[in-house]
Amino acid sequence: MTRIPGIRFLHSPGPTHVPPEVLNAMHRQPLDHGDPRLGETIEAIETGLRRLVQAKDCEIFMFASNGHGAWETTVENLVGPGQAVLIPGTGHFSESWAVQTEGLGRRVVRTPFREGYPVDPNDVEAALRADTKREIVAVFAVHTDTASSTTNDLAALRAAIDAAGHPALFVVDVVASLAAAPFAMDALGIDVAVGACQKGLMSPPGLGFVAINRRAAEVAARNSAPRFYWDWKRRQAAYSYNKFCGTPPQNLLFGIEAALGLLFQEGLDRVIARHALLSRAVHAAIECWSREGAVAFHCRIPAARSVSVTTVEVRSGIDPEAMRIVARERFQVAIAGGLGPQTGRAFRIGHLGDLNPAMILGCLAGIEAAMTVQGIPFGRDGVQKAVECLARG
Ligand SMILES: *Cc1c(COP(=O)(O)O)cnc(C)c1O
Repeated sequence: MTRIPGIRFLHSPGPTHVPPEVLNAMHRQPLDHGDPRLGETIEAIETGLRRLVQAKDCEIFMFASNGHGAWETTVENLVGPGQAVLIPGTGHFSESWAVQTEGLGRRVVRTPFREGYPVDPNDVEAALRADTKREIVAVFAVHTDTASSTTNDLAALRAAIDAAGHPALFVVDVVASLAAAPFAMDALGIDVAVGACQKGLMSPPGLGFVAINRRAAEVAARNSAPRFYWDWKRRQAAYSYNKFCGTPPQNLLFGIEAALGLLFQEGLDRVIARHALLSRAVHAAIECWSREGAVAFHCRIPAARSVSVTTVEVRSGIDPEAMRIVARERFQVAIAGGLGPQTGRAFRIGHLGDLNPAMILGCLAGIEAAMTVQGIPFGRDGVQKAVECLARG
């Protein structure tokens, strides 16, 4: 293969750009199972994740899996025979979690999904009120749905569960929002946070994790459904081999330890502020592009637009996949395609993780170049609007 000069811009909403510090930390020989250095790394990650999800008294369990594995472990541990979960419709990701839950033989109650809008907390309250037999053991909510690029109001969802007077656990998928959008497990009354390492955590894919509080641990302990690999109880061990139900993904763990170090070195508040600023710049560009009527925000509510990813719909007759190929192959900007109902109807810009203003401007300019090549009409001052936004700070 011929070498491509310079760096290639990765603007998918996961996997995201991996910082050199993380790559370097991974570049080493594996250790034997008893080496205390491995135990120290695992402990450092557990402490770091607890700090990141902002929970004092919670257990962390990690899996050599992707986010789907982390979904599976929540179902297996929390949902017993005859029980159900409520999954509010946020888009493709809530629906995928629901289908997986049903695939594991559990019953799912859904609230309707309105394309381009966040979850309506009233729907959640009504669905819980209707559950008079208390069969719903948990609400599985996606914080930021990476397909629709909407971020849901977790405080409002918590309030809806409380208003219904329902004892269901509040389980939140933070795969796409952690270390990008504000999140605080304890303060928001969340019982389980579900994450993965390849998005805001700036690491190569391959590690899923959950943070569970005492209430969730008690529900899991009462659940009689058979389970083994995904069982939380089995992983309450001191020895690294047992914690992972087998050999831990060591080199990935070294990378994640380094990534957490980078996040805390920058400071969580600054990480959150950086994502807010960069997403404002992206949104300013898209707002300008939309003036010609060929592209538009998928998320109709500006306040619900994600700081991690933005889904841009295209007018019928425009092929977003062809534009993506031009962006990637000719301009070295890799962006994502539409998912679920948006397949072939949208493209998505990932703007989370190890990114700075120059990278965001390069990404936006690369997309403008690709749209120009493809003859897609767009308001021409998009990059300029992003520059002005970044200049304002
Ligand atoms: C990426 C993502 C997942 C799935 O993660 P995989 O690692 O691809 O299995 C789940 N939920 C959300 C919100 C995501 O963005």
